[in-house]
Parts: sequence; C-alpha cells; structure tokens
Amino acid sequence: MIAFGPISSRRLGKSLGVNNIVTDKICPYSCVYCQIGNTPNKTTTRKQFNDPEKLAEEVEKHLKKLDKSHTPDYLTFVPNGEPTLDINLGKEIRLLKKHGIPIAVISNSSLIFDEHVRQDLMEADWVSLKVDTVNEKIWKDINHPDEKIVFKKILEGLTKFASLYEGKLHTETMLAEGYNDAPQELEKTASFVSGLKPDIAFLSVPARPPAIKEVKAVPEEKLTEAWEIFNSKGIKTEVITGFEGTDTGFTGNAREDILNITAVHPLREDSIAELLKKDKADRSVLQSLLEKGLIKEIEYNGKTYYVRSYY
Ligand code: SF4
Repeated sequence: MIAFGPISSRRLGKSLGVNNIVTDKICPYSCVYCQIGNTPNKTTTRKQFNDPEKLAEEVEKHLKKLDKSHTPDYLTFVPNGEPTLDINLGKEIRLLKKHGIPIAVISNSSLIFDEHVRQDLMEADWVSLKVDTVNEKIWKDINHPDEKIVFKKILEGLTKFASLYEGKLHTETMLAEGYNDAPQELEKTASFVSGLKPDIAFLSVPARPPAIKEVKAVPEEKLTEAWEIFNSKGIKTEVITGFEGTDTGFTGNAREDILNITAVHPLREDSIAELLKKDKADRSVLQSLLEKGLIKEIEYNGKTYYVRSYY
C-alpha cells in the first residue's frame, strides 16, 4: 500500500504515510534496534521503485477518501526502509505539493553524502535526519552500515545539508544501552547536532522489540542525562518514548500538564514548582502521580527531575 493513515504523530500531527518503497525491507543500514528486523541485503544504490505519477495518483485517491476531520497535517515519506534509496523521491515530493499539504521525510542520513539525495530532501518542508553517534566505531556497532559508506562523508553531508536547508530540520538520536549512551559520547553527539542548528533534536529509545533482542532502551536516568547534555548545548530537545505528550504548557489541569510535558522532556524540580503554581495546584498532584508509578523522580547533577515512567 502506497498511502496509509493518517496516523497521529506527536512530531507531525495527523500524518498521512507515503510508502515510496513497497517491497521487502531495503536499507543501507541494519541497526541493532531496527523494529523491522535485520536487513538481508543492504544497499546504497538508488533506483526506481515506483512510477512517480502513479504514486501521486495513489496518494490523491487516498486523500479523496478522507473526511475533512482527517485532513492530514503532513504527507510523510516513511517506507519499509530508507526513503532516499528511491531515485524519484524529489520528483514525487514535487508532484505531491499540489495538495498544499507540507511534505515530511524521515531519513536515516546514510545517503546524505550524495548531492542528489540532498537536493531531493531540500524539496521537503520537514526533514528528520538520524544522528545516533559521531563515533565511527559506535556507528558501525549500532547501525551496521553497508561497507561502501564512508562515515566522514555522512557527517560532511549532514553539515552541508543543514547549512542550506530552509525547511524544518530535526535530528533523531536513538539511544541503545551500552552502545551510544556514554556521557562523553553524548557530549560529542550533542556538539555536532548543535552545529546543525535543528529546530528540535529528538532523543528516542527502542519502543518495540528490536532486531537483536539483547538491545535495550536506556533507562530513564540515562535518558534524562542525555536530554540534559543536549539541552545544555542550547538545542531544543525532546524525547520520544511512545507516549504522545502534547507539550501544551499550562492548561489549569496540573495532572494532565505534568503527564503531557514529562512525556516530551524531563521536568526539573523548579519547573514543576512553577507549573503547579500556574495551575493553582499543590504537591499532592505530584505525589499521586509518583505513587501510581506514572512518573519517576530522578537525581541528576544534584538536581531532581521528574520523568514519565517509560517502561
Ligand atoms: S535505518 Fe531504520 S529501517 Fe534501516 S535498519 Fe536502521 S532502523 Fe531499520
């Protein structure tokens, strides 16, 4: 199926999925945390998977079936693998623009060294690029890349793309315990990401069973630490853990506000105190959420943080 949804996404609102690679999984990577499983045949060769006109027709047909309340906020390229392997990606984006709905692409950055890929991604209104690490050894361990890819060229490609792209740029760093979560590595990753000046850097954890069953999501403490490291570099940083918080600020309902905001990022004690004050609530709300196990208290760098209890 080429078009599906829309599905609800915290990052993209109502996101209508566009699967531009309707085939078995095809990807230049075989990440240890991949939810689709191992990549049997890794490739970096771009090729045609669809007739672009046909893909556009399919999306149009799907859009026509939707009632007004389901009009998507984004048309999102999210295939069974890496969308930039599709040599017609740029053309497909241009064809879909006639609907006046912003176009998003979620890429693993593996082909960003290729100028044609960068040009294709420039056409999109919203791009998410994977930056799990800036350490070549860790990259090999966590992403199991096709051997033809040169890591340095990916980093250069990311920098070149970010310096020219005028749409909304996001990065995504998947944190897997024991792979890329050491503080000194997170410092380096965050410094690189901060140079890309993303609108938001997302930190995520494997939410469903990964390709290698020993791979674990980092615990809440580590996620809080990673968030703090990224945040300290001046990057707007959010976590994706499967909870769809709305980060709506202060609504007058302290319980909902705490749950929504902690689903997006940890709340430090002083911020919680501020939030309770604005919501005209007292600490009993916080206490009740802690007792029910919906949030956790975490100590980091001498400060107390509250996070959603993720697992
Ligand atoms: S880049 Fe995405 S699709 Fe490819 S192996 Fe990694 S997680 Fe799976």
